[in-house]
Amino acid sequence: MQVLLTPDQIHKRIEEMAHEIAVDFGNEPITLIGILNGSLMFMADLLRELKMPTRIGFLRASSYRGTATRPGTLDILPGLVPDVAGRHVILLDDILDTARTLSGVVEFLQSLSPASLKVGVLLRKRGRQEVPFEPDYTGFEIPDLFVIGYGLDFNDDYRQLSCIGVLDEANIDQAHHPEVISKAVHIVSLTTE
Ligand code: 5GP
Ligand code: MG
Repeated sequence: MQVLLTPDQIHKRIEEMAHEIAVDFGNEPITLIGILNGSLMFMADLLRELKMPTRIGFLRASSYRGTATRPGTLDILPGLVPDVAGRHVILLDDILDTARTLSGVVEFLQSLSPASLKVGVLLRKRGRQEVPFEPDYTGFEIPDLFVIGYGLDFNDDYRQLSCIGVLDEANIDQAHHPEVISKAVHIVSLTTE
């Protein structure tokens, strides 16, 4: 695995993003809504940097890109979204790729009549976007690579890494094996100091 962003780089940038949010909202109460599972780490670390009254909520969104379903179909499970009517909402996701997920979720959240709705993404992939969309807060722009760690998965593994990395092509076939995962965890521990 190649490390693309170290834990330190991620944390510094999240502190800056919290500052950008503070500039926009001052002491106004806000609600962060995270898209599960990928936004978990980003949400937890950003939340700790915010000083205004902050509520949280989550939803799940899965887009189906297979041939069996219509491309762009988005399934939203809003079970953990609190009442956001009249509240300032910031929607968070780990990564903006085609932008289909976020534009669908934004449409859904607008229907709940928030006072305002902004969007924050930790990563934005260059050259992949299929629908027009501009996040209000972006952590890092990255090249068109499949990334893992810090909430991002490969077949539901690797979310626990505290860095963001790229899997070696050579390891893709056995990428879900425990020894490959523990090697990745070890590489991250070396980059933490
Ligand atoms: P979009 O709808 O913007 O194409 O897709 C966003 C979702 O696709 C993200 O929330 C994430 O779950 C997934 N995704 C897109 N690119 C990557 C990537 O490089 N790595 C991982 N692990 N997930 C990705
Ligand atoms: Mg996701």
